[in-house]
Amino acid sequence: MVAKKVKVNVENYYFSSRSKLKDFSTSDTQGLEETKDVRKKIKENMREVAELQEKLFAESQQSLLVVLQAMDAAGKDSSIRKLTSKLNSASCVVHSFKKPTKKELSHDFLWRVHQRAPAKGYINFFNRSHYEEVLVVKVHKLIGPAEVKRRYKQINDFESLLAANGTRVVKVMLNVSKRYQLGRFKKRLENPGKWWKFNPGDLDERKLWTSYMGAFEKAMQNCSSKKAPWYVLPAENRWFRDLVLSELMLKNLKAMKPKYPEASFNVKDYPPEDLV
Ligand code: ATP
Ligand code: MG
Repeated sequence: MVAKKVKVNVENYYFSSRSKLKDFSTSDTQGLEETKDVRKKIKENMREVAELQEKLFAESQQSLLVVLQAMDAAGKDSSIRKLTSKLNSASCVVHSFKKPTKKELSHDFLWRVHQRAPAKGYINFFNRSHYEEVLVVKVHKLIGPAEVKRRYKQINDFESLLAANGTRVVKVMLNVSKRYQLGRFKKRLENPGKWWKFNPGDLDERKLWTSYMGAFEKAMQNCSSKKAPWYVLPAENRWFRDLVLSELMLKNLKAMKPKYPEASFNVKDYPPEDLV
C-alpha cells in the first residue's frame, strides 16, 4: 500500500491555552504535494473511518462530535461533504447552526445545541456551533466581557458533561487568510451556480476580520483541553485540509476503540447450515 508512506502530524495544529493564532499557517502542507498517493491516503483513511463508524454504531456506547468553525467561505460545507462521503448516513448527522430563532433565543444558549449532540453510536458534525455565542455574538457586542467569560466556563462545563457521558468532542477551525476569503467570494460571484451561496452581508462581517480573529483566539485559548481539543487547520489547500481532517477523525475513532458487541445468544445454538 503506497499510500501508507504519506505521513501527516495532526498534533502540529493543536491549539492550547497558550497558543497564538498568528503562529498557525493557513497554507502549510507539511512538505507534501497533491499526489496520487495523497489522494489514495485520504480514501484509505475515509474507508477506515467508515469501518470504525460501523463498530461505534454496533457498540452504541460512545459517540463522536466534530465541530467545525470558520469564517465565511472557508470551506466548512465542502469539508463536511468530503468527511461524510464514505460514512453510513444512518448513524451520522450534520447540523448547520444559523442565527437563533425567537424560540431558541428564549432559552439558554446551549439549549438548541444540546439537542443536536450525538446519540450513543453516532457521529455528528456541527457546521458552526455553540462557539458562535462567543464569536459573532462577542464581535457584535451583543453581550459584555463578563458574560463572554461566563460562557467560556459554561461551554467547558457542557463539553465535560458530554465527555463524561461518552461523547468525544473534537473542534476544528478552518484557518484561511482574509485574502483567500476574497478570492472565494469572487469565485462565487463569477459562477451563477454559486450565487445562492453569496450573501452580501458576509462583506460586512469581513470588515470585522481582526475582531473575529481576536474572538477565535480567546475562545480557543479558554476552551481547549486534551479532552475537548481545538485544532487550527491550514485550509487553503483543500486536499491537505481533507487529508488532515481524515487523519484527525481516524485518530479519534481509533482512540475510542469501539468494539462489536458480544452475541446476545449462544452462537453454537444456530449452526448456519441448519438454518431453514
Ligand atoms: P457559508 O460559509 O457557506 O456562507 P454559513 O454557515 O455562513 O455558510 P449562513 O446561512 O450564510 O451559513 O450563515 C449562518 C449565519 O448564522 C452566520 O452568519 C452565523 O454567524 C450566524 N449564527 C450562527 N449561530 C449564531 C448565534 N448563536 N448567534 C448569532 N448568529 C449566529
Ligand atoms: Mg454565510
